[in-house]
Amino acid sequence: MPGMNEGPVSSSYTESRHVKLLVLGSGPAGLAAALYAARAELAPVVLTGTELGGQAALTFSIENYPGFPQGVGGAELGDLFQKQAERFGAQVEFDTAYSVDFSARPFKVVADSGKILTDALIIATGASPFHLNIPGEIEQTGKGVSYCATCDGWFFKDKKVIVVGGGDSALEEGLFLTRYASSVTIFHRRDSLRAGAVLQKRALEHPKLKFVWNTVLTEIIGNEKVEAVKTKNVQTGEESLFPTDGVFIFIGHTPNTSMFEGQVEMENGYIKVDDHMNTNVPGVYAAGEAADSHFRQVITSAGMGAAAAIEATHFLERQAG
Ligand SMILES: Cc1cc2nc3c(=O)[nH]c(=O)nc-3n(C[C@H](O)[C@H](O)[C@H](O)COP(=O)(O)OP(=O)(O)OC[C@H]3O[C@@H](n4cnc5c(N)ncnc54)[C@H](O)[C@@H]3O)c2cc1C
Repeated sequence: MPGMNEGPVSSSYTESRHVKLLVLGSGPAGLAAALYAARAELAPVVLTGTELGGQAALTFSIENYPGFPQGVGGAELGDLFQKQAERFGAQVEFDTAYSVDFSARPFKVVADSGKILTDALIIATGASPFHLNIPGEIEQTGKGVSYCATCDGWFFKDKKVIVVGGGDSALEEGLFLTRYASSVTIFHRRDSLRAGAVLQKRALEHPKLKFVWNTVLTEIIGNEKVEAVKTKNVQTGEESLFPTDGVFIFIGHTPNTSMFEGQVEMENGYIKVDDHMNTNVPGVYAAGEAADSHFRQVITSAGMGAAAAIEATHFLERQAG
């Protein structure tokens, strides 16, 4: 079992093992679930997936999670969540699940490390960023196209970058990029922003941030690295070429749930849950952005994770008689 500061265990199990509660995902939902389940002495096993800390770990600063009046780094918050869960006995393993079978009990999960049998399961696999699906996007990813300002912003010191999107993430990350880039231009397909009022005000007043409204990208151009984007005004149809060194895309997310198709009820790709995080399979719960297309926040995801763990605890108690 990992100690408080040891990070995830690199798992090397090859034979199947049987656990009481398996949590898939190490974002706010998964780690909050792990904390509650660990305190209920269920010794939960958490498979981190490839993104330790989840999407929250991608952002430089989280300013709306209570208890941190000065804000907290996204990766730091994930680390604190993990340490708190581990303190009570959660086992966090650097491992990814790739298939599940809920047709018989115990449930079966196949992960990179092997087969895991579990009496109850919490799905907290979150979401991944949407792509623009335009020519050049895949080819230039890592060469100037990015979905994470915290990860890649530093590479654009004194360079010109653009941000695509009009929601909270686009503005937060655009503001973050002003630390490095000489200019940040936000391209939005509408004429008004979806982001919260405080963020909008901060972005609209920032001297380094410019906005191009009613405009979409149609192609990303470059050879070894991004050089320009082709754009189109959705109202006038006018096409333009806009030189840039980097393209940061924040246009929403799609849930990481394809593995659960045919196993639990889903709606538009999201796992269907009731108020208590129950899926239609007793003993299988879902929390966070895998099951929530509406709130999509650290606090709401963590809250759903805690609720799922409380319900899983009751379920396992009932099973044990
Ligand atoms: C750039 C950015 C900035 C943001 N800023 C804020 C903010 O300031 N405030 C705020 O409240 N929210 C913010 N959010 C939203 C917040 O990060 C999410 O709402 C929250 O992280 C969702 O938590 P989650 O646990 O449901 O899923 P995620 O954070 O998406 O985590 C999913 C987890 O599941 C794992 N996983 C996926 N597939 C598998 C698999 N097959 N097997 C095992 N594990 C798997 C992943 O590795 C990951 O650990 C931001 C998001 C982004 C992208």
